[in-house]
Amino acid sequence: RKQQLLTLKDLPTETLDAHQVSLLANVGSLNEISHLADVGAEGIGLFRTEFMLMNTSILPDEKTQYHFYCDALHLMAGKTFTIRTLDVGADKELPCLTPLVEDNPALGMRGIRYSLANPQLFITQVKAILRAANHGPIRLMFPMINQVEELEALFDLIEACKLQLIEEEKGFGQLSYGIVVETPAAVLNLESMLPQLDFISIGTNDLTQYTMAADRTNPSLTSEYPSLSPAVLHLIKTTIDLAQQHQVKVSLCGELASEPKVAPLLVGMGIDELSVNLSSLLEVKSAIRDISYQTCLALAKHAIKIKRIEELNIYINGLN
Ligand code: PEP
Ligand code: MG
Repeated sequence: RKQQLLTLKDLPTETLDAHQVSLLANVGSLNEISHLADVGAEGIGLFRTEFMLMNTSILPDEKTQYHFYCDALHLMAGKTFTIRTLDVGADKELPCLTPLVEDNPALGMRGIRYSLANPQLFITQVKAILRAANHGPIRLMFPMINQVEELEALFDLIEACKLQLIEEEKGFGQLSYGIVVETPAAVLNLESMLPQLDFISIGTNDLTQYTMAADRTNPSLTSEYPSLSPAVLHLIKTTIDLAQQHQVKVSLCGELASEPKVAPLLVGMGIDELSVNLSSLLEVKSAIRDISYQTCLALAKHAIKIKRIEELNIYINGLN
């Protein structure tokens, strides 16, 4: 099977009737970047920068981060490279940052909230990324955004970064900007944010957690935290429809995209891009190449009408 999948490596990700989607990878280390070519990934749809800080007790400075992103860009050789700004907090604890004591960390200072409360960390990272963008294309996305005000506050910080770089006479490039849609509020407020965005990426891991009010890390909540549910499917559909209306490219980078049986459903719902684990990439490509776009559309049309979690999963996975 593995050999058979490897023959797909350099073939396009398209349905039997030639509807194309981009198939990118979720990556958490430089080592993984060097393996993109092994599976023929078209680029990176989610670079989780927390991993850069996982095994260190000191925060890397701007120069260190700049070299790190330059090394990554070099390996990317012009392919799509999507960096998520630091997503600190809750399930992503970092040894180099003093842990926050909070009753509900998943509902606390995390993602972009942490960045806005501790702007120096964000500024250091963004300055390094802006400088690296002088050497190749970079898409930047922000985790845990709920509101347009947060987005505007981040854009103000980015303007400040550019002014600092000009003053310091350091060259920098332009970035494309996106958000991770991973809270119900982000979906409900999406229309006010889309005009300012180049792309969005649906983060179904957190979107499921916050929609179902079920801790993604709690092993006893597997039925309350289903990988596929009617509620989350509706939010995905609303997000895709709104993005299409505003002609903003829409990606999905949660674990859901890595499920070969679900990928055709997402294609039928109108997703432009899937970002998946390296280990699932060829299986997902195979699933998309084995189905027609007409069938994907029919799958999506039927699935969105299903009201029950179990029925939805049986329909998509053919499980009994
Ligand atoms: C998500 O929340 O779906 C996501 C892609 O990000 P992470 O799993 O890193 O929170
Ligand atoms: Mg997330």
